[in-house]
Amino acid sequence: MPAEIRPFEQSFNVEAEWDSPMFGLAQQQFTGAAKMMGLDENIYERLLFPQRTQIVSFPCRRDAYGEVETLFGYRVQHVLTMGPTKGGIRYHQDVNLGEVSALAMWMTWKCSLMRLPFGGAKGGVRIDPTQLSRAELQRLTRRYTMEIIDTIGPDRDIPAPDMGTNEQVMAWIMDTYSQQVGYAVPEVVTGKPTVLGGSHGRAEATGRGLCYLIGEAADHLGLELERCTAVVQGFGNVGSNAARFLSERGVRVIAVSDVSGGIYNQRGLSVGSLLDHVREHRTLENFPDCERISNDELLELECDILAPAALQNQITGENAGRIKCQILAEGANGPTTLEADAILDGNGVFVIPDILGNAGGVTASYFEWVQDTQSISWGIEEVNGRLRTLLVEAFKRTLQRSTSSGINMRSAALIEGIERVAQAKLLRGVFP
Ligand code: NAD
Repeated sequence: MPAEIRPFEQSFNVEAEWDSPMFGLAQQQFTGAAKMMGLDENIYERLLFPQRTQIVSFPCRRDAYGEVETLFGYRVQHVLTMGPTKGGIRYHQDVNLGEVSALAMWMTWKCSLMRLPFGGAKGGVRIDPTQLSRAELQRLTRRYTMEIIDTIGPDRDIPAPDMGTNEQVMAWIMDTYSQQVGYAVPEVVTGKPTVLGGSHGRAEATGRGLCYLIGEAADHLGLELERCTAVVQGFGNVGSNAARFLSERGVRVIAVSDVSGGIYNQRGLSVGSLLDHVREHRTLENFPDCERISNDELLELECDILAPAALQNQITGENAGRIKCQILAEGANGPTTLEADAILDGNGVFVIPDILGNAGGVTASYFEWVQDTQSISWGIEEVNGRLRTLLVEAFKRTLQRSTSSGINMRSAALIEGIERVAQAKLLRGVFP
């Protein structure tokens, strides 16, 4: 026995694993949509929980050699009916089975809404990646990959980046997988660096796609983007690219935020300078010539476009009544609660729901997988052109269903997604 046993902070509690407000939200959204569309009861039951869940615990050696920490990791596959499963990997201190399962369920609806040949998956490790050195991050990634190696594969389940992971993490996953099988398998992950088979345009596709959809929503509402203001919460992959492309389309970006808080300037912020600042200092802290505001205040600013692109559970029954935007463009997954949805509907806010709003990411990931499996490479114009076409078509289908059925955009997008999965399940039948 060691002389002193250190308290195990990540204590494992099976009930707490599922006890996630996010999973509750995903299930309730699904239930609401299922009722509206009169979904077959057996199919409803089949889709309420993921088909496969994997929990792993594994050691991670810190740079101080004697320090070894046990970490928990997850990989969840929600639906295996549609093709391989697909979904990002998240490194965050709040990750648990429920959160990953919610994200996997949303991936199913998103892929189906976009008509991509995938079911939904998601993975994650419960760790704050900002506290890790590069070497620690690499060791953690390689060991986690080994733990889930039988679950993933180019024809089985294809990971991608999500919060706290990036191109470099995808490169390490690809390398670890390739070392095990004995040859290079670029198509096992998407969101890789282009030199390893990553697609042009993938890194910025989620933010770019959100901006295409905002353009469609603005047209629908009769708004001119050049006269619009935008507020973006989160300045990581999705938020910073959304801000950049909005600003390129002539939108005045008046406030952005990240984990260090928010910054505001009614005259407009220079997105280029913000990107330079974050590249140099990691966060928006100490950015000059602006007013500091909190993340809560940021959400309530008067603006035309509000794009939550950080965390879940940001717009709730408590603050939804004070949201003053015309278009709520969800870049993040699950930023809006059910109570908030009802209030936003009542106040006439046009919502681009997350499964549509951030679908540019998985769509460009699909393009990457297609290119890798055929060993071809598309130019950036081809990628962006195809991205735009698929997103605009999905937007039009969703809007059409929303107006013809008199339901909001979130319900319409969910039903569009659920319907195809239900059809596929019924056609494939029950084995044996
Ligand atoms: P990221 O790690 O690149 O960036 C996250 C950003 O959120 C950072 O700027 C961080 O500082 C900020 N943040 C963290 N805590 C915050 C807080 N309390 N308040 C305000 N900001 C905070 O992550 P990302 O890839 O941009 O993902 C953001 C969201 O978009 C997530 O919900 C993710 O699931 C979703 N998403 C990402 C992709 C993708 O392609 N990366 C695709 C689809 C959906």
